[in-house]
Amino acid sequence: MSDREQKISSFMKRGWVLTDIECPSCGSPLLRKEGKFYCAVCNREALVVDSFDEYIKAMESQTRSELKLRIVNEIRKILEVSNLNMEDIEKLEKLIKILNMASQSSS
Ligand SMILES: [Zn+2]
Repeated sequence: MSDREQKISSFMKRGWVLTDIECPSCGSPLLRKEGKFYCAVCNREALVVDSFDEYIKAMESQTRSELKLRIVNEIRKILEVSNLNMEDIEKLEKLIKILNMASQSSS
C-alpha cells in the first residue's frame, strides 16, 4: 500500500467516506464527513462547490474575511503608536471605511 493510500485509509477508519471528487492540488480522491471535504494527502480541508456562483460566493467571503483581518491588524498597528498625527487619523478613517465595506454582505 502506498503512502497516499495509507493516509486515505487511516481517514476512512475514522469514519470519513471516500468520494469521487478529486483534490484540486494533488488529484487524490477527497474524503467526506459531516458535510466537510478533506484531502488526506495534502492534509487540508477542501472546498467543494456545486456551481460557479457558489465558488464565487465562497471566494468572496474568504477574501472578505482575510481583508478584514488585515485591516484590523493595520488599525491595531496605527493605534499602538501613542502620538497620532493627522496622517495616521486619515489612514484610520480610510481603513475603517474599507472595513465597513468588507463587512457588508453582498446578497
Ligand atoms: Zn490533495
